[in-house]
Amino acid sequence: MIERSHGDVTLLSFESLEAVPWLVHAVTTRPQNYAPHQGTGCEEAVHWRRRVCDILGMPFESLTSPEQVHGADVLTLERDDIGHGRDGRQDAVRFVDGLITDKPNVPLIILSADCPLVVVCDPDRPSVGVVHASWRGTVAGAAQNLVRQMLQSCGSDPARMRAAISPSAGPCCYEVGPHVRRIARTRLADARECFVEEGGRVLFDLWTANRNQLVAAGVPRDAIEVARLCSICDRRFWSHRRDGAQTGRTALFVGLRGRPT
Ligand SMILES: [Zn+2]
Repeated sequence: MIERSHGDVTLLSFESLEAVPWLVHAVTTRPQNYAPHQGTGCEEAVHWRRRVCDILGMPFESLTSPEQVHGADVLTLERDDIGHGRDGRQDAVRFVDGLITDKPNVPLIILSADCPLVVVCDPDRPSVGVVHASWRGTVAGAAQNLVRQMLQSCGSDPARMRAAISPSAGPCCYEVGPHVRRIARTRLADARECFVEEGGRVLFDLWTANRNQLVAAGVPRDAIEVARLCSICDRRFWSHRRDGAQTGRTALFVGLRGRPT
């Protein structure tokens, strides 16, 4: 990923998504916490959200967020949703972990402390979607739902899409118990490829699981950028595994620039 500092804030971006002219996006880094509801410095979260919107040239007023309930549902943003979740999850778009928009100047924000965040965009009909793919969301097909919903609501062709997977718990560190693997095996056809056994530990490779899901949904493998940055061992990111319940949240911002008239 490309790292840029903007005074007090350092942001990362995906190389492949920078090539899409109307797309704006950023992944945040510590020490800022972007979750108003939780973690160290949460009282400053709205201030930092506004700051990142300013850096991206997006209107903070329209910032919209899904509630994020460790599910796999994705909705396409409607006009009445705009601005929901801007100041916190209490009025975020309910029951969903992902949102899609084709409206310019409506930035989306999605939060993570180890869970992969998956971005998909369609360069042909400007639209972008994001989903929070926790292990539960991953096994329930969150990334696949995102692609399917973009096809349904924007008419996007998966073969033309670009996708990216954010910094998140990597296969180097993300140890899980036997029940997680048992459940994943009932849901994921490629479960064998998604678990690594190492010195008695079982590691869940969420990056591979989500990438394979995007490929199965029709996104070309070489159009998927995996950040390959692990939030548990890379201290630029917040980690629930490393820091416990009081951890803050890393954010991914995405939006569509208004097209020149
Ligand atoms: Zn790691």
